[in-house]
Order: sequence, then C-alpha cells, then structure tokens
Amino acid sequence: MVRTKLPGDALWNPQAHMPTAQAKRLVLTGGEGAWLESSTGQWLLDATASLWHANIGHGRARLADAAHHQMRKLETYHTFGRFANEPALHLADRLAAMGPVPGAKVMLTSGGSDSVDLACKLARRHWQLEGRPEKTTILSRVGAYHGLHAFGTSVAGLQYNRDGYGTSSLVPETARVATNDIAAVRRSVTEIGPENIAAIIAEPVIGTGGVIGPAEGYLQGLQDLCRSHDILFIADEVITGFGRTGHLFASHRWDIQPDMVTMAKGLTSGYAPLGGVLVSPRISERFFEGADAPIFRHGLTYSGHATACAIALANLDVIDEEGLVEEAGRLEDVLAKAVEPLRDHELVEEVRSGAGFMAGVHLHEGVNGDAIAEACTDAGVLIRVIHDNTLQICPPFVTTDAEVKLIAGTITQALDAYQY
Ligand code: PMP
Repeated sequence: MVRTKLPGDALWNPQAHMPTAQAKRLVLTGGEGAWLESSTGQWLLDATASLWHANIGHGRARLADAAHHQMRKLETYHTFGRFANEPALHLADRLAAMGPVPGAKVMLTSGGSDSVDLACKLARRHWQLEGRPEKTTILSRVGAYHGLHAFGTSVAGLQYNRDGYGTSSLVPETARVATNDIAAVRRSVTEIGPENIAAIIAEPVIGTGGVIGPAEGYLQGLQDLCRSHDILFIADEVITGFGRTGHLFASHRWDIQPDMVTMAKGLTSGYAPLGGVLVSPRISERFFEGADAPIFRHGLTYSGHATACAIALANLDVIDEEGLVEEAGRLEDVLAKAVEPLRDHELVEEVRSGAGFMAGVHLHEGVNGDAIAEACTDAGVLIRVIHDNTLQICPPFVTTDAEVKLIAGTITQALDAYQY
C-alpha cells in the first residue's frame, strides 16, 4: 500500500501505537500560561501540564531570556572531573539548600530516567564500598513508574513497561513490593533478605500508575523499615518535586528524609531537559574526602548543562517570586472539590484526589478512556489516559479556579455524552 507522505512521517513517537498516532496526530504550536495552540488554530487548556512538567505554564519570556543570555555567554561546558560552569555550581547549591536532604550533594542529569539510573547505580556502589557487595537488589512498588532507561525499565511496577527485554528484564536483581501496605512490604523484605537489598525506590505519590497518594503512615513506615534494615531509601520526586503537592518536595509534606531524591520535570518546568539527584552525606561523604576517595564512574555529556541550569535557576526564581508552591497547595483543594461530583458518575470507578494539585479519574473497565480524552480535547481541554483507564489531571500552577472547574465540567460532559 502506498501511503501519502505526511510531514513528520519519519517520527516514531514514544509510547505510541503508531498507526493511531499517525492517523490522529495532534501538533501543538504555541503556548501561553495554561493554554496551548494546536496547528489547526484550536486553543486547548493543558490539563496535564504536558507530561506533568509545565508547572509555571507555557510561553514565559523570562525563561527564554535566561536561555538566550547564557547561550550568548557560554552555551555549556562539561562538568566531568574538575571542570564546571557557573550555572551548574549555583543550581547545585540552591537545590541542596531547598531539598529535603540535609547536607545534600547534588548530581545533575538530563532528565528523570537518568536520575533514576544514577540513584540505583549509586545505591549499589555504596554497598560495594561498604564491603557488602551482595546488597544489590532494588525494590520498587507495584504500579510504580520510574522512567524507561535500563534501571527504570527493570524496576517498573507497570508490567508492560518491563516485558520483552529478556527473562530478568534489563537489569538483574530487582523486585516489586506492595504499594500502601507496609506489613506486606515487610514480609517481602524478610523473604528476599535485607542482606541482599540495596535500596527501595518509591514515588511519594504514584503518578503514571494512576495518581495514588500514600496511605496514612506508609511513607514513614517505608523509611523506618529501610533504616532498621540498612536499606537505602530513594524518593522519586520527578513529578512531586518543586511544588506539585503544595510543598517544595513531597518529602517535606510527608515528613520523610530519604537517602536520595530524584528530580526532573518541574526543575525547569520543561523549558529544557534537566534532572538531578540529591544525595545524603551518608552516601556522598566518602567520595569527597581524602586522597584515596573513590570515584563514582557515572556521568553524562550534559550533566550540568549550563543553559539548562540557567533555565532552572530562572524557573526557581519564578516559583519563588510568584508563590507558586503555595498556589499549588491552594489549587489542590479547588481541584478536589471540582472532581468530587464525578465520584457519583456511573462510568467512574474511583476519583483520586487530595495528594497535591493532581487527580486521577479512574473509569470503569469497559469505558473507552481514549474516546473520553478525545471528546475532552475536541471540547478544548487537553487530557490523557494513564494506567488502568485513568484520566490524568495535573494542570500548571497558573491555572485559574474557573479553568480547574472547566476541566472537571468538560470531563463530566464527555462522560454524559458517551455511548457504549
Ligand atoms: N520518575 C517518575 C516518577 C516519572 O513520572 C518520570 C516521567 N514521567 C520519570 C521518572 C522519568 O522521567 P523522564 O521521562 O524525564 O526520563
């Protein structure tokens, strides 16, 4: 069959059923605050902050200016060995001071998956240097999403992201434990043997797995379990970092002090690809002291990319100056109230809210979630379906109360009009 070539015919989208992606491609061409313009001229409310990252909203001239200024000065210089650039130094200090890890050192990466790979590698390296090289297993939770690099793929709690890469997935020695059931996690740890376990990685609020907040005392319980069994605790704050839960980090909100924190997305609000990992002194100290200090043999060409770091600094200024963390905290309640009536809708299984400015509307199994998302988009609200037929809602922090209500109202209308 000869198909007419479309512009972008060569693009193979991530996570896509390509025949559908090509037939129904939606091209975004512009953005302003919480709104996006499509190539057909339609304006759409961005109900998902793109992929959970457009926290300060689209089209900020200030971030473009920060990029421009840095690029005109020095686009970047690498940070391997003794080299550094100014924005990377400033950003590292700022992240260490604002994060939930006292005395943290900061490694910079090019995104969330890179941060997860780094944290898992460093966990294993730590135990090797402690003289306990058998402590290699990385535990993650059912329903978890930690990106799709090798470690992220292997620790995925969504089975379809793990399958197809060999019998032990990509990286050996990983295992899944229960979400929100600390007694079950304890049993798994005993079964696997804490002497084999390097770390547990957990999103404080599960994102892509369906927007699932932590049960009362659960994160604290995980931390206690880790402390009492010499297991490192990694909080994956790629989504929750930089305000999504109404606190700078979810670790602040739920009062945990992880050994490592992975971050990305909201660090630049998507204006450049950048991630990072906060590392506690317990792990970092030996790498910083003495002539025989070991070297952590990890790094990327763009670790600490100067322009990306300059953008992150401007993004953090905007968050500070506009009080966007507090605003996200206020909007959490507005969103929770707006989606509340959906609980009674006959097509809705469950509404998950109250763990930050984010919500999941879990539709009944037989309902075509993609059709609902498309109907919303046709009506001007850009939304998507994540794991388990759940609509993802996590708008930018600059969304108005009326726009939050518009999102819930548009979903309701799409559900009301839905024909089985
Ligand atoms: N961890 C979590 C919790 C995430 O939500 C994501 C991305 N959705 C990642 C890691 C991976 O980040 P990235 O796509 O930037 O590699």
